[in-house]
Amino acid sequence: MICDILVIGAGPAGLSAASYAARAGYNTLAIDSLAPGGQLLYIDEIENYPGQESTSGYALAESFEKQATSFGVKIEFWGAESIEKDGDGFVVKTTGEEVKAKAVIFAAGARHRHLGCPGEEEYQGKGVSYCATCDGPFFKGRRIAVVGGGDTALTDALYLSKLGSEVHIIHRRTEFRGQKVLQDRVMAKENISLHLGLTVERINGNGKGVTSVTLSDGKELECDAVFIFVGIIPNSELLEGFAELDRGFVVTDSSMRTSVPGLFAAGDVRTTSFRQVVTAAGDGAAAAHQADEYIQTL
Ligand code: NAP
Repeated sequence: MICDILVIGAGPAGLSAASYAARAGYNTLAIDSLAPGGQLLYIDEIENYPGQESTSGYALAESFEKQATSFGVKIEFWGAESIEKDGDGFVVKTTGEEVKAKAVIFAAGARHRHLGCPGEEEYQGKGVSYCATCDGPFFKGRRIAVVGGGDTALTDALYLSKLGSEVHIIHRRTEFRGQKVLQDRVMAKENISLHLGLTVERINGNGKGVTSVTLSDGKELECDAVFIFVGIIPNSELLEGFAELDRGFVVTDSSMRTSVPGLFAAGDVRTTSFRQVVTAAGDGAAAAHQADEYIQTL
């Protein structure tokens, strides 16, 4: 198949990029091995997407998809298997057809690293969360456990301390990886307590929701929610050895250009410090605009 712009990944970044590209008159193909929507499909309720009152992740994903197809975007359930330069353009082998494109927008997203302890999967969406801004407001006045010691854990513990009655940070080492300024702010918060040099051995609940976590010292810590921030894993394996990556994240400039001319990256897979549906959609729009400029130079 031949197209002008190939978008790899059909989450908010990919579908936003595809919509902008198709609306600008480009023959645009978006591919994803899973249903369109990306991580939106795992979010029960979204109330912070601008212009959209509280809705389900599924409903928002559907509306992204409908809008994209209304502009003429073609969506295929294909996984990308390899990418190569083909003159000024690209050739991408997929689980479906081989695709030739003048520009490629890579928006394959990222997955949250999991703890892998008993109870984590069972209570996902019932108190176990990987997103403070998405789920924190559901735990106003409740007891919250936060797992991790990086910037995300510290930043989000501070955010959650404004909502929860108490926040317990559980970190496997006695030193934090996160920035000193964030550590200082965490220490100054009266309702945040630290449990250092400890891991979560299991997440306990009553079937409906989380009730406590069991720590590696054998003690049980009562809580109503467990927010897990132990890093994210970018879905960037396709670009290894092809484009510049930083700890797996695709390096871009602020215009979403990667180290390879004609290849753009958008959303969670790229190097950025704030990962939200709205920032992913904004990245997608910027990437499509740059792809347009690139194609015009060919
Ligand atoms: P991160 O920096 O990789 O930190 C992950 C944390 O989780 C580390 O403290 C790590 O412990 C811990 N961890 C990893 N695997 C674990 C496991 N299996 N069990 C228990 N703990 C585990 O990830 P992040 O905090 O999500 O940050 C990702 C990137 O975004 C970073 O570059 C960060 O600087 C950036 N970021 C920046 C800001 C900001 O500037 N405001 C905000 C958020 C994120 P160890 O320390 O022992 O390895």
